Amino acid sequence: MTFDYDLFVIGAGSGGVRASRISSSLGARVAIAEEYRVGGTCVIRGCVPKKLLVYASHFSEDFHDAEGYGWTVGETSHSWPKLIANKDKEIDRLNGIYHNILKNNNVTLYNGRATLLDKNTVKVGDQTITAKYILIATGGTPVMPDVPGIEHAISSNEAFHLESFPKRVIVVGGGYIAVEFAGIFNGLGAEVTQLYRSTQILRGFDDDVRNFLAAEIQKKGIQLRTNANPAKIEKTDNGLKVTLEDGDVLEADAIMYATGRAPNTKDIGLEEVGVTLKENGAVKVTPDSQTSVDNIYAVGDVTDRIALTPVAIHEGMAFAETVFGGRPRAADHENVPSAVFSQPQVGTVGLTEAEAREKFGAVDIYKSQFRPMKMTLTGGTEQAFVKLIVEPKSDIVVGAHIVGGDAAEIIQAVGIALKCKATKAQFDATVGVHPSLAEEIVTMREKYTGG
Ligand code: NDP
Repeated sequence: MTFDYDLFVIGAGSGGVRASRISSSLGARVAIAEEYRVGGTCVIRGCVPKKLLVYASHFSEDFHDAEGYGWTVGETSHSWPKLIANKDKEIDRLNGIYHNILKNNNVTLYNGRATLLDKNTVKVGDQTITAKYILIATGGTPVMPDVPGIEHAISSNEAFHLESFPKRVIVVGGGYIAVEFAGIFNGLGAEVTQLYRSTQILRGFDDDVRNFLAAEIQKKGIQLRTNANPAKIEKTDNGLKVTLEDGDVLEADAIMYATGRAPNTKDIGLEEVGVTLKENGAVKVTPDSQTSVDNIYAVGDVTDRIALTPVAIHEGMAFAETVFGGRPRAADHENVPSAVFSQPQVGTVGLTEAEAREKFGAVDIYKSQFRPMKMTLTGGTEQAFVKLIVEPKSDIVVGAHIVGGDAAEIIQAVGIALKCKATKAQFDATVGVHPSLAEEIVTMREKYTGG
């Protein structure tokens, strides 16, 4: 049977675009469908605009810190509409670049929602297209819990387009997105309350990191309330009235939910053609991203493996090389570094202390908490934290965790060391860069003994 294309990709986000570009370069005839904007969550309403807002929000602290270094900053003010307009311009530019990537790589773009008619046929609008292989790369969407008045709440999608800046903000959730946006709103001058339903934010991260960051963000003015969750949200003349489960009442101008994301697998025809989904709706895949239907693959957030852009890209490349490059390889999900763009940032790679203890029994811990040098002239109280977890028999460093300025930049390089299975002795043999926060990673000598 001849097909219109060798590969049809559904979803033009990070994973889908990379898979289509590489597949095309390997000789495949490729088409891609996108119902919203080419670029996906990361570029259009995720990592990229988020980081621009993080930069914007950091200036308030920078202005303050500048005085200790002899600057007179004078009166400052911030225009939210200007920030959003400039951010939108940049996102438009990137959207254009993504269009060009597809065009320059001979990938045909179908604007519209694609649905599967059978394992080789998709429908976009009134067009029916056939392909030998199909790749599902449809990403995820914010989940809003069923709370009375939830229609008055926003998700991160809307936060990027608020017309005016909310002076009082409630952020619900304790994951990446909640922590990052609480920091953004706080830095831009809002009164921020972050509500987390359980005992400590950033579940899944190292416990020391969680406790340390929680203390730091509170020092910067975020009112963090743990074991707290809204029971109902009402609109009033004065904004929003949020009644918590314990009966407490808060007022706000905006309430943003960052309570997780769900894979986009509804109404695509996946189950109808035999693609098995996990209980949470994600597409079930083998390590090389194949679904239960042999010619249908899936990469990125829709598979709910590790919901990070670089992971989706990595999975997309592995898929293309496996299917069209004759170089079969599974996506590698071990020692994936990641960062939370909180203020201060968190950078992490490898195991948490709890995971390492569970896996290895005894582990050696090295940790250090200190005042970053920049704070010495500013009167700032921000602290930094560095922690290494070592498997004692092999001496291999199995986890590295940093909280502090530039933690994201630092952890990228530390990730290479963990990928190479570097030992603590090799970390110690590396000369530090002085003065820097990063040198702490190679200068900690004393094992933490619980004192
Ligand atoms: P997460 O799954 O990380 O966090 C969701 C948070 O919401 C958790 O604290 C969770 O609590 C809480 N929660 C879940 N359901 C409810 C509910 N019904 N009521 C109240 N609280 C609830 O999701 P995010 O939305 O923050 O981010 C999604 C993914 O996107 C992340 O996992 C990450 O992979 C990716 N991401 C990465 C970023 C980066 O690399 N910097 C930035 C942003 C996103 P509990 O802990 O109790 O389950």
